[in-house]
Amino acid sequence: MDLHFSREDKLFREEARAWLHDNVIRERRPHAGEEMREFDLAWQRKQYAGGWAGVAWPKEFGGLGLSLTRQLIWHEEYARADAPDNHLCFVALNHAGPTIIARGNAAQKQLHLPQILRGEVIWCQGFSEPNAGSDLASLKTHAHVDGDDLVVNGSKIWTSHGHLSDWQELLVRTDTEAPKHKGISWVICDMKSPGITLRPIQIMTSPNQVHFVQCFYDDVRIPRSNIVGDMNDGWNVAMSTLGFERGTAQVRDQIRYAFLVEKMIRKAEERLGSDCPLSRDEIGARLAQLRADMAAARAMTYMVVSRAEAGIQDSQSSLMRAMVGETQQRARRLALDILGPYALENPEEDDWVYFYLRSFSITIAAGTAQIQRNIIGERVLGLPR
Ligand SMILES: Cc1cc2nc3c(=O)[nH]c(=O)nc-3n(C[C@H](O)[C@H](O)[C@H](O)COP(=O)(O)OP(=O)(O)OC[C@H]3O[C@@H](n4cnc5c(N)ncnc54)[C@H](O)[C@@H]3O)c2cc1C
Repeated sequence: MDLHFSREDKLFREEARAWLHDNVIRERRPHAGEEMREFDLAWQRKQYAGGWAGVAWPKEFGGLGLSLTRQLIWHEEYARADAPDNHLCFVALNHAGPTIIARGNAAQKQLHLPQILRGEVIWCQGFSEPNAGSDLASLKTHAHVDGDDLVVNGSKIWTSHGHLSDWQELLVRTDTEAPKHKGISWVICDMKSPGITLRPIQIMTSPNQVHFVQCFYDDVRIPRSNIVGDMNDGWNVAMSTLGFERGTAQVRDQIRYAFLVEKMIRKAEERLGSDCPLSRDEIGARLAQLRADMAAARAMTYMVVSRAEAGIQDSQSSLMRAMVGETQQRARRLALDILGPYALENPEEDDWVYFYLRSFSITIAAGTAQIQRNIIGERVLGLPR
């Protein structure tokens, strides 16, 4: 590993730190609904106005065109400043935008990229179906050509924030005769199109809040000009999209969790001797393990960035995802073990229970822990399929 920060990198860090210090929105981020949409778009607009939108996007498309090392520095400072994660802008900034940059035509770029950076629109992802999750290429939502339009029928599920979105990156089967990876197209779907029905899915984190929806498409007409890349080449387009999802932004989580462990250590000190159900030794051992694992995850991130900067492309980021996801779950579990009923009685303090329940999804969303292990086995360790 050879990752060192140059003098210019250090100056860049100071600049990012100063801007974040002065501009981070300090109000608590709402967990759902229009309020959350407004909050996330407002923060995106603020970053745009300050010249900090699209750190990973090339300059010619309005981004900052930062190197991986500088992106890492930005995300480190972002987490240190405790800036809010505008999750609703995630798909637009990390999948749809980069995919349109890589594979979209001039008209698609001109319409969509500025709206995303300026914080005007929310995008959602319409990939998973009731019978196509890990095995995404089995998707059945179908589109046939009728004049200048595609006509879509079928259903997508687990669409995060679909009910709050303006646009959707949608995978549809446009050739039913071709092998399953070959007959798929990646299209831009206007979520206000006639024929789309959304059904909220109840989640355990908060029964009254909607996180994701199931989308039904009944003869939904989408202009053929909304196909990104070539018709029937959507699998290749989608794979580049998933690649973007595993980018440098993960480093924010690692730093946030490293802070969380320190906070848990302080909480444990406060709680020991009260009604904390665990012994001092057990808490100490589990906290020490977590702290060490967080430090290891950080070192792995530096290794992956350093290799990528040196032009080495590999699947090592799956190692990180698998490890960090499970470490986060352990951290949330231990927080509740330390706090006991106090966590339920003081929800306003840090949403302890909400984040514990949410942590179950970390090893499912964007590729399950088992799928990550398959990737590690096959592509990192070279084991037979
Ligand atoms: C919080 C959250 C948000 C999400 N948001 C979106 C979204 O916005 N848009 C979207 O399209 N999707 C979204 N998803 C869906 C997510 O991508 C899928 O849940 C995920 O890909 C797994 O698919 P599945 O749920 O169909 O499970 P399945 O693929 O049916 O898997 C079931 C179990 O079998 C295991 N398994 C499956 N295949 C293998 C294999 N080959 N080897 C070993 N084990 C295997 C899995 O690991 C899992 O434990 C979201 C999911 C979550 C949890």
